[in-house]
Amino acid sequence: MPSKIPYHKPPGASASRHRDYDRTRRDGESKAFYNSKAWRSVRAMKLRRSPLCELCSQAKPRRLTPGTHVHHVVELRDAPDLGLVVENLQTLCHGCHSRLHASRRA
Ligand SMILES: [Zn+2]
Ligand SMILES: [Zn+2]
Repeated sequence: MPSKIPYHKPPGASASRHRDYDRTRRDGESKAFYNSKAWRSVRAMKLRRSPLCELCSQAKPRRLTPGTHVHHVVELRDAPDLGLVVENLQTLCHGCHSRLHASRRA
């Protein structure tokens, strides 16, 4: 038998490099989206229409928190063509936005 061919790939082999590449590429795409003129104007329009966090103002007791995030109800990576659709947007404050994303990941 010739020298054994290692079955296990050495640490840091192609699999993990591929994942990193994937993540970088996705981030790059959404970064380009969030930097686009179209998104900025849709976002500004959304914040003019609903300047307050929509979750806080539905809460009981009602809270009036200025919105800082325009969130995609159906996430951009799931529905890129809904990215600029106002009906798919939600004004959120920082707290609600991070809570929402944290519960989605869970
Ligand atoms: Zn809120
Ligand atoms: Zn979001």
